[in-house]
Amino acid sequence: MPTTPVPITIPQDTSFTFDVLGRYGCNTLEEALDSAVPSRGFTDARPFDHIVIGGGSFGSVLATRLFNVDDANAHRVLVLEAGPLVLPEHVQNLLPTFSPPGKDNPGTVWGQPWESDSPMGWNQNFPGLAYCVGGRSCFWGGWSPYFIASEVTDPPWPTEVVTDLTTPVLPAANPTESYLDQAARILGTNVTNDFVSGPLHEALRQHLFDAIQARPAGPDVLTGNRGQLAATADLEAPLAVASASERPGFFGSNKFSSVQLLLRALRVAQGEAEAASPGDLRRANVFERLMIVDNCHVTRLERNGNRISRLLLGCAGESFAQSTGPCG
Ligand SMILES: Cc1cc2nc3c(=O)[nH]c(=O)nc-3n(C[C@H](O)[C@H](O)[C@H](O)COP(=O)(O)OP(=O)(O)OC[C@H]3O[C@@H](n4cnc5c(N)ncnc54)[C@H](O)[C@@H]3O)c2cc1C
Repeated sequence: MPTTPVPITIPQDTSFTFDVLGRYGCNTLEEALDSAVPSRGFTDARPFDHIVIGGGSFGSVLATRLFNVDDANAHRVLVLEAGPLVLPEHVQNLLPTFSPPGKDNPGTVWGQPWESDSPMGWNQNFPGLAYCVGGRSCFWGGWSPYFIASEVTDPPWPTEVVTDLTTPVLPAANPTESYLDQAARILGTNVTNDFVSGPLHEALRQHLFDAIQARPAGPDVLTGNRGQLAATADLEAPLAVASASERPGFFGSNKFSSVQLLLRALRVAQGEAEAASPGDLRRANVFERLMIVDNCHVTRLERNGNRISRLLLGCAGESFAQSTGPCG
């Protein structure tokens, strides 16, 4: 058996809470290393194929996506996240000390990864990063305008990127969706906002729509969410917010955060792993295709040629090197 420190097998108990989500959602660094490095005890340990640094808004979605598209179940994905698992979803109206408190006043999860040398006020006042699973997706406003060509002229985006994002390519057999369409669907910004609704909202929206339509033609063109203004619904803010449930008996998913996606994928991965190693939960880690190690700050990347060969971590004085090849 691996000669590691005493494994944490149950939620940690503090004065205020049990760390249930953290324990059952994330893994310790020892568990990740044991599952990946055969010399640590498990002879069938397998290295990770992809290591995602930072389980924030985009890192969590990327890791979930890598896990979901692996039809052959052949690859292992590891997320190294500097902060803890604090929130299970987007949460509004937290205590002031929890929300972004501003520069040099880090609060509960907020911290600054760098000192900005920009003289601009908005850079100097940058509150920093949310060091937690989900990152700033746990706190963001939810405003996600659809990408329209007029917004990417300065600086110009490469034509290939614009084409790749806007051309329907999904699903491969009978493409109807572009990658942007898919992102909007995952975020929930493709449907008319039901967050602010009701007779007063509809009356005011109609009033605004009529007034815009009645404007004389001029150099300023007012457009809606997707660059068109054909119906009142085009005036709706593209918010990643759901106030109503999609199905009877279900609660609305409310505002999008990447934590929900990641937790769902982690549950699938854990279910698979436990089925592959009945009765031995420590060995089950070897079969886990998606792991997240929280409280694990990557402090340095070492290169071998143009490949990353070793990660230095700010937790437990450990480093993470793949035994059978370079890290992804
Ligand atoms: C209050 C608020 C409102 C906002 N509203 C909107 C909005 O309405 N619309 C909009 O488009 N944008 C909005 N934004 C901005 C948007 O949230 C961010 O641009 C986006 O979430 C950034 O995603 P990211 O994945 O790049 O970074 P993050 O979500 O910050 O993720 C970075 C992750 O990496 C981790 N990390 C950092 N360094 C390390 C390291 N060395 N090792 C390991 N892990 C590390 C962090 O802990 C974090 O989890 C808002 C932001 C805030 C704070």
